[in-house]
Amino acid sequence: MEYFNYIDSDLYCEDVCLATLAKKFGTPLYVYSRSAFESFLGHLNEPFSKHKHLLCYSVKSASNISLLNIVAGLGLGADVVSGGELYRALRASIDPQKIVYSGVGKKASEMAEALDASILMFNVESKEELELLSRVARDKGLVAPVALRVNPDVDPKTHPYVATGLKESKFGIPIEEAPELYQLMGRLSHLKPVGLDCHIGSQLVSTSPFMAAVERLKKLLSTLRTLGIELQYLDLGGGLGIRYNEEIPPTPAQYAQAILEALGEEGDLTIILEPGRSAIGNAAVLLVEVLYNKTTPSNHFVVIDGAMNDLIRPSLYGSYHQIVPLYDFSRPTHKVSLVGPICESGDFLAKDRLLPQTLPGEFLAVKSAGAYGFSMSSNYNSRGRAAEVLVERDSYKLIRERETYSDLIRGEYSN
Ligand SMILES: *Cc1c(COP(=O)(O)O)cnc(C)c1O
Repeated sequence: MEYFNYIDSDLYCEDVCLATLAKKFGTPLYVYSRSAFESFLGHLNEPFSKHKHLLCYSVKSASNISLLNIVAGLGLGADVVSGGELYRALRASIDPQKIVYSGVGKKASEMAEALDASILMFNVESKEELELLSRVARDKGLVAPVALRVNPDVDPKTHPYVATGLKESKFGIPIEEAPELYQLMGRLSHLKPVGLDCHIGSQLVSTSPFMAAVERLKKLLSTLRTLGIELQYLDLGGGLGIRYNEEIPPTPAQYAQAILEALGEEGDLTIILEPGRSAIGNAAVLLVEVLYNKTTPSNHFVVIDGAMNDLIRPSLYGSYHQIVPLYDFSRPTHKVSLVGPICESGDFLAKDRLLPQTLPGEFLAVKSAGAYGFSMSSNYNSRGRAAEVLVERDSYKLIRERETYSDLIRGEYSN
């Protein structure tokens, strides 16, 4: 099911005309489809229904409180990677017993906050982190539930910046060192080993790296058993890809089937998945307005009011986002680069793209912008961050106001 469709010549999100939203709220504007988000999470939940499992939505992919409220409403959990994300998840009423805390650089203060909140588990990524967590828990007279994030050394065949499970990566503990650390945990009285975790990368378009990772984790689980260490949770992270251009990623059902098949006998563990991109990536567009058409001897530029501060993925990873007009009537196409107002040559949303000729004042939709879109946005060039709108069927709601000039200097002092 597609949630962004042309009706006559106008692009809609569910039953709401996107041009109406662009005019009402201004641009750049993120527009999320609630139904797209909910339906993906439902499709991923379903094939696991016969197994103990928990979906922990990856808050960093898109972290608006309204989106997290939807997650809470579905009874799902959250994967957080900072104290700020923990704060958001708790504010959105996500059950703390469904929150896992990942990340390679947790600070003592953040650990303390998560212990106070009684989260489900900490995904720990180094021996020193383990020791610090033990001290923080001891000071509070609490026991921290821990999963070790291991690095299974599998190649996810994705962009190097989003590959996280290769042995040269900063993430996770080399899988060979895990047994020793689980034994160390047994000796540290304020830690309780409850799970095993991995997250091998993002935007994976095949199931085989997931299956290879599961195979390696299974071997580790049996080694741990021989050491008398029994775990409850197997957290396989996120990483399922989406279609930006020509990719054909596995469906949620295919992904689930591959995982369950690879798991085989280990059916007794509660499986945790941390979907981010797959859940929200194709559930939103970024609306922008055309400012100028600018032709130089070597290029046709379409200058738009959306920029790398709004959506950094093209600049950061060279990634592709489909870009379409909101008003689609037949007109000649030409090859253009879509660039923003920011003073950087790396500020573009698309390069050498065949696009219908556009007029100043018309709106375009940058598709597949839900994941790592708004959440990676910044105030560079003193640009206020975009507004966000949530659509459900024929209704819509502003879920984040556009930042104002006074927001830009909040907390600054003049001499
Ligand atoms: C970013 C991240 C995710 C989400 O990854 P996606 O590719 O967006 O699904 C899940 N788990 C961890 C630990 C992460 O860092």
